[in-house]
Amino acid sequence: MSAKGKYEAVIGLEIHAEMLTDSKMFCGCRVVDSVEAPPNSAVCPVCLGMPGMLPVINSRAIDYALRVALALNCEVQRHNIFARKNYFYPDLPKAYQISQYELPLARHGWLDIELPDGAVKRIRIRRVHMEEDTGKLTHLESGGSLVDYNRSGVPLLEIVTEPDIHSGEEARIFTSNVRQILRYLGVNSGDMEKGVLRVEPNISIRPIGSDSLGTRTELKNLNSFRALADGTDFEITRQSAVLDAGEEVVQETRGWHDTRRVTFSQRVKEEADDYRYFAEPDLPPLQLDEAWIEEIRGALPELPEAKTARYRETLGLSEYDAGVLAEDRHVAEFFDAAVAAGGDPKTMANWMINDLFALMNEHKQSIDQVKVSPAGLVELSELVTGQSINSSTAVKVLAEMFTSGKTPGEIVAERGLAQISDEAALAEIVARILRENESEVADYKAGNEKLKGWFVGQVMRATRGQANPGLANRLLDEQLAA
Ligand SMILES: [Zn+2]
Repeated sequence: MSAKGKYEAVIGLEIHAEMLTDSKMFCGCRVVDSVEAPPNSAVCPVCLGMPGMLPVINSRAIDYALRVALALNCEVQRHNIFARKNYFYPDLPKAYQISQYELPLARHGWLDIELPDGAVKRIRIRRVHMEEDTGKLTHLESGGSLVDYNRSGVPLLEIVTEPDIHSGEEARIFTSNVRQILRYLGVNSGDMEKGVLRVEPNISIRPIGSDSLGTRTELKNLNSFRALADGTDFEITRQSAVLDAGEEVVQETRGWHDTRRVTFSQRVKEEADDYRYFAEPDLPPLQLDEAWIEEIRGALPELPEAKTARYRETLGLSEYDAGVLAEDRHVAEFFDAAVAAGGDPKTMANWMINDLFALMNEHKQSIDQVKVSPAGLVELSELVTGQSINSSTAVKVLAEMFTSGKTPGEIVAERGLAQISDEAALAEIVARILRENESEVADYKAGNEKLKGWFVGQVMRATRGQANPGLANRLLDEQLAA
């Protein structure tokens, strides 16, 4: 949104992503679904902040965090220190959060995003660090609040960008790309509604051409991409109006009201000093082994951007098809497996996007639930190219593969669906149809060429759609010319 042409918005993002580990960051409690699990069913003295309990670092959480840091082109810091961030709030039982401050896990990364006009913009990443999530408060309308500590101590990765973003739309595109990478890496589900992935933009505006930064506000409660884009743009417009009125923007945290679609003041923002950070005395410095970092780097999957480019440039797919197939890692892996099994890339893309996705929608199944295998899809397309079945029969066979899990060969054999490519057998059927429809034959010979299509229809009907269409056409031509 334009800030009335006078101002430029300067936006940095803080993205918090819970890591999908089995256990929590510093104790053995399970990581459970924060919406579905009964409250306070996955807690222990460590994550409840009981006195005298000692944290132990979850190495899987560090592994996951390193995947993200490396995928975001960051420099990993081998010497890490955990820090105490002190503040008092009922969702934080220890009254401090174990986080990282001066020595974070990784720094100086970047991610390129593609803007709607096709331009590529590089967003710099200031830091990526590990911390633990807090509990969850539910405020009751009748007064009072309930607290659920299942989330307390869940590994939380924080990604902080430089203030390189200038609009709600850019914030949305960047976050959407990060979400896709997190899902590709298998470290986060990307569920913003459940708060597993949370994004908080800090937003300020300044007169165009100015180098100084304006007073910023931080925006919370954004539980969708639309809320992120709209809330950010609302805040830019609001701050512009404040400055235009000759007033000053207040540094504060503001919430987004999703139904009224406005931001509102929540609390005046703390400065870093207010948190009284100091090195966490219960944890030793975390020294990362270079070989471990390189092992993780080597095991990174091909990421969405590289995959899309390969589909377009090497496999010759259209931009649209490449984007659709690379969108989700499991879909892309299905496609890759089909191509590896000998499938023609364009044919496999068509079968998946046109037919398989339609069946998945109809049956509300995701790609990792379907009974059709990549090899099955290749076999199906080979039956068509080998003229064993025609393409309309193939659509029916795929539907049956989807429900029964049988191979296309089994289905074709069991149901007698093989295309009739036996010339003698088909010639006999053609001859019979011409014999039984003498007046149409006479019309055709008198010049009514449109009847050709009708004859083809009769042959298809007589063969339950299984005639080889090319052969049926040729035999019709020959016999009608006789
Ligand atoms: Zn615990």
